[in-house]
Amino acid sequence: MALNRTLKMGMVGGGPGAFIGEVHRKASRLDGGVELVGGAFDINPRKSKQMARELILDRKRCYGTYTELIEKELKLPEGERMDFVAVCTPNNWHYVIARALLEAGFHVMCEKPMTLTVAEARSLVKIVKDTKRVFGLMHNYTGYPMVKLARDMVRGDRFGKVRKIVVKYPQGWLATALERTGQMQASWRTDPKQSGGSGCGGDIGTHAENLAEYITGLKIQEMCADLTSFVKGRRLDDDVNCLLKFNKGAKGVLHASQISVGEENNLTIWVHCESGSIEWRQEHPNYLHVREMDKPEQIYKRGNDYVGKISPAAARGTRLPSGHPEAFFEAFANNYINFTDTIRCKLTRTKVDPLMNDFPKVTDGLRGMLFLETLLASAKSNRKWTKFKK
Ligand code: NAD
Repeated sequence: MALNRTLKMGMVGGGPGAFIGEVHRKASRLDGGVELVGGAFDINPRKSKQMARELILDRKRCYGTYTELIEKELKLPEGERMDFVAVCTPNNWHYVIARALLEAGFHVMCEKPMTLTVAEARSLVKIVKDTKRVFGLMHNYTGYPMVKLARDMVRGDRFGKVRKIVVKYPQGWLATALERTGQMQASWRTDPKQSGGSGCGGDIGTHAENLAEYITGLKIQEMCADLTSFVKGRRLDDDVNCLLKFNKGAKGVLHASQISVGEENNLTIWVHCESGSIEWRQEHPNYLHVREMDKPEQIYKRGNDYVGKISPAAARGTRLPSGHPEAFFEAFANNYINFTDTIRCKLTRTKVDPLMNDFPKVTDGLRGMLFLETLLASAKSNRKWTKFKK
C-alpha cells in the first residue's frame, strides 16, 4: 500500500550562509514526495528564525534549538509531525542531535563524519538498532550512477579479484590560513573541538575511504598514515597520505589534501583488478573509464541503456538522458530517494526493495570513525602499520 501523503522533513543546521544544508533542502525535494516543514537552522536562534522566513516556512515550526524542535514536534499528530530530520551542523553536534532525534522516534539523515569518536559511533549503531529508525549518512559520492556501475562491475566477476585501489581527494581551498579571516566553514573545520581529531582526514578522507569500500565491497584492515599541518598555526592536519591493506589481499593508496593549490574537488578513484581496471572522477561524474587486458579503453556514459543492463542501481539513479549532465544535486537526491523510500516502506509495513536499500548507513559511519581513529594512531606511531579495531 502506497503512502498517500508527503514525508515531512525537518532540519538542524543549514542556517544563513551555511553550505550543505541548502544542498540537502534542494536534493531531498528533487523527486517530490518530501516537504520541508521546519527546523532549528542556526546555532543562533535569531538567525534560525531569519532562515525560516527566507524559506517561507510556518513561523511556528521554526525552532530556536533542536531540543525545542523535538519537544514541540512530538506534540503534533503523526502525519503532520516531521517524519525525518536532516542533521547538517558541524561535526561536534552530529552525535548528540542524532541520538536525541532517534530516541524521540524520528528517522535521521546525518552529515559525515558521523561522530567525533568511535565510542559515539558504536553507541549510535546500537541506538539505531534499538529504536528501529531509518538512519542515512550523507556520503553523497555513492549516489552517482557511474559509481554504482563501477561497484556492480567490480563486485561482479568481470575483472577478477581486486588487487589495488588508488583513491585521491585533493582540494586547495585551505592552502592559506583562511580560518583566521573568520570564514565560517574554515573556522570550525580547523578547530579540533568542532571538527574532531583529524581535519582533512575527517572532512574529505572519510569520503575517499567510503568510496573505496563501497565500490569494492572490501574493508580496510590496516593502515600506514602520515598527517601534516602545512599551514603555520593550524591545529589540525590539512594533508593526509596513507598506505592501506584491505581484506582478501588487496592493497591501496589514499591521499587527501586541502592545501593542493588549484585543486577543487578532484576526488578520483582507480580500482585495478586481475584483468581490468576502472577510473571515476568526481569532476566528470557522468563517465566511467574501463580498461581491460588487450582491449582499447572504453568510456561508459551515464544515461545509456547499456549502463542499466549492467547496473539497475545506476539506471534507478538516472533522471536525464545521456548528454544532459547530472551531478552533485542528483547524487544527493539518489541517497535521499533511497532513504525516503525506505521510510515509506517502514510506514506502510512493506518490504524494502534491495535497490532502495542502497544508501550509506550508520555502520558506514562507524567505518569512517574507525578509519579516523586508525589514521591518528598510525600517524603518531613509529611502527606505522596499525590495525583497525574490530
Ligand atoms: P557550515 O558552517 O556552512 O554550516 C553549519 C550550520 O550549522 C550553520 O548554519 C550553523 O549555525 C549551524 N549550527 C551549528 N550548530 C548548530 C546547532 N547546535 N543547532 C542548529 N544549527 C547549528 O557547515 P557545512 O559546510 O554546511 O558543513 C556542515 C556539515 O556537513 C559538516 O558535518 C560537514 O562535514 C558536512 N558536509 C558534508 C558535505 C558532503 O559532501 N556530504 C559537504 C560539506 C559539508
